[in-house]
Amino acid sequence: MSTKQVDAFSRLTNALKVLPNVGPKTAQRMAYELLQHQRQGAEELVEAIQAALLQVQHCRLCNTFCEGELCAICSDEQRDTKRLMIVQMPVDVASMESAHCHDGMYFVLMGQVNPAQGADLQAIALDKLVTRLQHHEVDEIIIATNFTAEGDATAYVLAQLLAEFPAKVTRLARGMPLGAELEYIDAGTLAQAVYERRNVK
Ligand code: ZN
Repeated sequence: MSTKQVDAFSRLTNALKVLPNVGPKTAQRMAYELLQHQRQGAEELVEAIQAALLQVQHCRLCNTFCEGELCAICSDEQRDTKRLMIVQMPVDVASMESAHCHDGMYFVLMGQVNPAQGADLQAIALDKLVTRLQHHEVDEIIIATNFTAEGDATAYVLAQLLAEFPAKVTRLARGMPLGAELEYIDAGTLAQAVYERRNVK
């Protein structure tokens, strides 16, 4: 094997390591698979990643991923614009939508505060949230973060931040097992937690 080939292979395995839960060994296995059995799939992967990088952006209002300026929910005029639910990830929006328990708007933080790593506030889109609240008045803000240590820390940061806004602030009821992530909670339990939400402020 020439030096040039080795370099290209190493570059591929290094690139694959950006994926979550992919260490050096898994990256190497993936690279072998792509080059040995999935060359056409690899081409499609390259094109799909390039297209997504060009087309997928953050919704101007709720910060979720979408293609275009506004996502489908933010463009829907039937939604109750006076109630804003704050969630961690786009998948949480999907969970809430399938539980049919919230007809208001969303804001997606795209991350969480990790208390074990020094609670870096840059991990969540706080600036964008503040800007949104300054421009769109709401009656109620529902904090719907995960019931994990990180979700609790994120909720705490949000409650502090939201104290300066006139809206009522609520959080999902604590009917769920500790450590629960919204995406793994069944629709009925999730809806119950939304209906029984408690006042934070
Ligand atoms: Zn949106």
